Amino acid sequence: MYDVIVIGGGPAGLNAAMILGRSRRKVIVFDGGQPRNRWSDNMNGFLTSDGMNPRDFIKKGRAELQKYSIEMKDIEISSATYSKGQFVVNDAEGTVYHTRKLLLATGLKDNWPQLERFEEFYGKSIHHCPYCDGWESRDKAIAVYGKGRSGIGQALAMKNWSADVTLYTDGTDKLRRSDLELLELNGVKVAREKITQLEGEDGMLRHIVVQGGEKRAQQALFFSEGTKQQSALGKMLGCEFTNKGVIKTRRLQQSNIPGLYVAGDAARDMQMVIVAAAEGAKAGVAINMDLQKEDRKTVA
Ligand SMILES: Cc1cc2nc3c(=O)[nH]c(=O)nc-3n(C[C@H](O)[C@H](O)[C@H](O)COP(=O)(O)OP(=O)(O)OC[C@H]3O[C@@H](n4cnc5c(N)ncnc54)[C@H](O)[C@@H]3O)c2cc1C
Repeated sequence: MYDVIVIGGGPAGLNAAMILGRSRRKVIVFDGGQPRNRWSDNMNGFLTSDGMNPRDFIKKGRAELQKYSIEMKDIEISSATYSKGQFVVNDAEGTVYHTRKLLLATGLKDNWPQLERFEEFYGKSIHHCPYCDGWESRDKAIAVYGKGRSGIGQALAMKNWSADVTLYTDGTDKLRRSDLELLELNGVKVAREKITQLEGEDGMLRHIVVQGGEKRAQQALFFSEGTKQQSALGKMLGCEFTNKGVIKTRRLQQSNIPGLYVAGDAARDMQMVIVAAAEGAKAGVAINMDLQKEDRKTVA
């Protein structure tokens, strides 16, 4: 029986494991090796590690955990159930594990725009988060992708990083007159044609080609098409979700299920590495305090 099983070995899961290991808990971390930022070579906005390769960050995190005797298994967890005060967890090879507390740190996946060659540029010159990659795109010719009216907010926001911002609605024509006025007033250009091709090399976008063949010089593209949970475990366990598809958590990452905690992108709150790691730390402390309370003898 483990004190804690952590599912997900990204920044949230690893930081939780560190706090729990330092609290002398018997912990195992399972990881499927699919971190959300795996397309990127730079992890920005994390003090002391700004610009670090995210793979090196995880490698360093795992190495730091070794001194706390934390078990680590690179395997997917396929199911988890809660029964009689404990969780039963099955890995993809059918091995069964029992634990007193469970932490989901399973992250999110991004919905991508349906654009040819998208993956070639993703994480290098196509991004979703201006706080992660806006600085590196500063003063560039920035495209914002958003069908219908969905890109208006992000296009306006990107003016923070460049004077040259164009909203691409990819062949949709849903912008209202007031939207166009607002965009124009704030210096955002609008391209309504369907996008037929992304052009560039070595991950760096150079042009967006639109229907009719015109090539527009663009050096970066930002999008926001929403996210989904990377794992079905939250649903399987009966977690409550927000209308944005993230798991509802209380102040110290507690879910609505007793003994089940959720940290990082999978949970409510801002989606950045440093926030995920901080939530992992909060969950680690809360879980340890819960275990202390359960195990403490009280005066009769
Ligand atoms: C292209 C890109 C670039 C980004 N750049 C930045 C940046 O510069 N700075 C920044 O702060 N943020 C950045 N982010 C956001 C950042 O990636 C996330 O905020 C962060 O990774 C969240 O950490 P996490 O631990 O919650 O989840 P993740 O890092 O996604 O880790 C979740 C882990 O759980 C595992 N997992 C999921 N389900 C299971 C299962 N059933 N069994 C076992 N393991 C499972 C996955 O395989 C994965 O390894 C970027 C995101 C993207 C997409």
